[in-house]
Amino acid sequence: MNDTDRQFLTEWGGECWHEISDDAEPSYVCPKCGIILTAIHYSDWNPKAFYRTFDTWADFGWLWEKLEAYLIEFIFWHAKQKPMTALFNGQSCSSALVEFERLSPAERSQLICDFLRERADNPCTPEQQDGTDRREADHE
Ligand SMILES: [Zn+2]
Repeated sequence: MNDTDRQFLTEWGGECWHEISDDAEPSYVCPKCGIILTAIHYSDWNPKAFYRTFDTWADFGWLWEKLEAYLIEFIFWHAKQKPMTALFNGQSCSSALVEFERLSPAERSQLICDFLRERADNPCTPEQQDGTDRREADHE
């Protein structure tokens, strides 16, 4: 997964992809979100460590929770990537899920990224899951 995809997933999930200048030092303030990025010891300072990598189970778990409202759609999208013969055999969803279970966090995150980018013309963000807009729409 490249940084463009990592930034896309981080921002889709509602977090800041911090704007960190090359000469940033500890106690650096991100100009986009205002958070202070720092390290206990100067020798521990690693600005890159503030970015989600999506190659850890922790980052995948964060992404998986954000995807909750779109899980079924994602599972069917993933199944559609399988050959048509699998679809005709009715095994597509289950075999896609078994395949998914074998993937690393990075591979899973890349699939989710591809899924979200493909449906970019029909945008969805976790913020739209809070129900606020839905309740307002019910009154119309
Ligand atoms: Zn930031």
